[in-house]
Parts: sequence; C-alpha cells; structure tokens
Amino acid sequence: MNERYSRQVLFPGIGKEGQAKISRKHVLIIGAGALGSGSAEVLTRAGVGKITIIDRDYVEASNLQRQQLYTEEDVDEKNPKAAAAEKRLRVINSDVEVVSIIGDATPELLEELILGVDVMIDATDNFETRMAMNDVSQKYQVPWIYGACVGSFGMTFSMIPGKTPCLNCLLRSIPLQGMTCDTGGIISPAVQMVIAHQTAEAMKMLVEDWDAVRTSFVSFDLWRNQYTSIKMSKAKFAGCLSCGEERTYPYLDHENMTKTTVLCGRDTVQIRPSTQGEISLERLAAQLSTLGYMVKGNPYLVSVEMGEERIVIFQDGRALIHGTKDLTHAKSIYQRILG
Ligand SMILES: [Zn+2]
Repeated sequence: MNERYSRQVLFPGIGKEGQAKISRKHVLIIGAGALGSGSAEVLTRAGVGKITIIDRDYVEASNLQRQQLYTEEDVDEKNPKAAAAEKRLRVINSDVEVVSIIGDATPELLEELILGVDVMIDATDNFETRMAMNDVSQKYQVPWIYGACVGSFGMTFSMIPGKTPCLNCLLRSIPLQGMTCDTGGIISPAVQMVIAHQTAEAMKMLVEDWDAVRTSFVSFDLWRNQYTSIKMSKAKFAGCLSCGEERTYPYLDHENMTKTTVLCGRDTVQIRPSTQGEISLERLAAQLSTLGYMVKGNPYLVSVEMGEERIVIFQDGRALIHGTKDLTHAKSIYQRILG
C-alpha cells in the first residue's frame, strides 16, 4: 500500500487489511447532486476500487453553492452531472475505476447495475427511486445507506438486509415521504453532515466491520442545534412487502414506473420515452435551428428555447421541460419536438 493512504491505514478501524478490502470494493452512488458529489469525492480519495455514479440532470448555476465536484465551466457547458463528476473524480484519484451513467435510476437499470456492488449510497432527491433502491437492496442482499437533507436539517439510516429494518418498514413509524420534495432552500453544512454519516457507514461496511455499523436513525438540525438518534431495532415489520417473509418487491414492478414526473422543488417536468433507443442529437439540433429556435448543445444533450419553456433533450430521448409543472403541456411540447 502506498503513502497515499498512510493516514487511513494508521487509523485502527481500517488498518492495512481494511485498506486492501476497500481497494477491492465497488460502491454504487445513486445521484450526483450535493450528497452524491460529496460521497463520491470522499470515497474516491479513500481509494475504493470502483465507483459507479448515476444521475439524470446537468449542472446549473444554483448547484455550485453545495455540489462540490462542479465548476462554473460545467455550468457554461451544461455538462451532465454524471459526466462532470467522472471527469473530476478521475483527476482526484487515478487508482479508482469510475463509471458514470447519464440517465434515470429506474428499477430496471438498478437491477442491472447492482451486480458486483458491495454498498449502495442514496443521493437521490425522490421517493420513487429510494423505494426501488430499497427493494433492489433486499432482493440482491446489498446494504444501502439512506440520506436526505433540506434547509439545515438532515437524516440518515444504514440498512443491512436480514439485519436491520428496511425503508419500507421505517415508513410505518417515520413519515419520510413528505421530506423528499422541498423548495425551502438548503445550506451546505447540512449536506456535509449527511455525507459524513453516509461515508463513515460505507467505510465500516467496506472493511466489513459490521458491528461498528450504526443501527439507529439519525436526524439533526444544525441551525437549531439538535441531534437525535433513535433506536430502530423494533421497527422491523414481519409483513413488510420489501423485506418480510412474503415479500413481493412492489417497487421493482416496471409497469408502475412513472414515465412523466414533476421534478422535486423545481418548475421542471421530466419525460421518459416508453421505448428505449438513442436519438441523434446532432440531427435534432440541426432540425431545431432550421426551424429558427435558439439551440445549444454538447455531446450529451441539446437545449432549446421555446417561448416560456426551455427543453433539454438527452441522447436516450429523455427530456427535461423547464418552466412548467403542467404534465399535459409538457407532453405536448415533447411531442412537438420528438414526435
Ligand atoms: Zn421492510
């Protein structure tokens, strides 16, 4: 082991053996926003063998205050977060194999990505994806670490299949759904605090120190100076459809997936095409400019101004319609562009 990890190796919880384990492990990070970029940076610097990071969005100016992997250049170029994250992580530590995926973490994709993964980190902003992660975790027996924050408030919980309750169990005692979509703003220290908890838990799991893994549900408010840790051992529910004896993994049902969604806390609708396939962004950009629209783009996406709305189309045909929350209206714009 080289000098690079010497301080981590000196730490008794990790040691030489722990570092060797870390270097062989694979972490899947769902989301490359504030939580995802922070976790990815910590784990890349720690020398994790492989990191896969997935995100459906691109970098905007309002992200820079807390999304630590991105720069003004990423904003100017409208770089997808996953691609920008990969580029940055590679120059931080070339030992780490970094794989980035620009797209939606659908249950289908999660089931593909989970193979060979040792730990999954929640860095999403929506409940649908978290419940899919939870079912994938149970089905493939991969631990995952929930994390969420808003304002100066944050919370986190580690879930180990067969040992702790799962997120679906927790919902019976904690109303987590309401927490996921808030427009009330956020301060970076709250993000960092959740990242610290999530990555510390991940490191314990990567070195297989299972006894050290926190079993309580943590929540805190950095502005109000509150910190709570609640024991969760009794929250495990025998009839749980995700981790109980007669489990059905309800959130992996592909038919139930939303194709059109209003994105959290934003005037933005996401539309996912019902059929898979790549579109030619170059041709699309050329067509739209011929029609007289203001078009900008990069190898990953095309952005076009259409009256009140701005539409961003990705290679997989997925589109973000900015400036509306009206699903029908958003669909009609999508039809106009992609037919
Ligand atoms: Zn459960």
